[in-house]
This record gives sequence, C-alpha cells and structure tokens, in this order.
Amino acid sequence: MVQKNYTTKNKKMDASNLKCSICRTNRGMIHKYNLNICRRCFREVAYRIGFRKYS
Ligand SMILES: [Zn+2]
Repeated sequence: MVQKNYTTKNKKMDASNLKCSICRTNRGMIHKYNLNICRRCFREVAYRIGFRKYS
C-alpha cells in the first residue's frame, strides 16, 4: 500500500515539477522530444529548429 501511494505521489510531483522553460506553464507539456516546453511554445521553437509539420 505504501509503495503504491508513493508511486502515485511521485508521478504527480514529476508532472508539477516539469514546467515550460519559456512560459512556465505545466499544461500541455511535451515530453516526447525532451524539450521541456509546452505545446504552444513548441510550435514556435519547432519552426526555429527546423521541425516542420508535414500534412
Ligand atoms: Zn510554453
């Protein structure tokens, strides 16, 4: 039981610790590319680093 609680708490702490390095929000964070930025900022940064959206 203790272990289960610890795991859950740890996950929550992880999520709240991660903030966008640009706008400091913790909502809509992107973990995929280890960028530590949110989705909104990613759109701007992605363009600079040459990440293009192909449709
Ligand atoms: Zn952001």
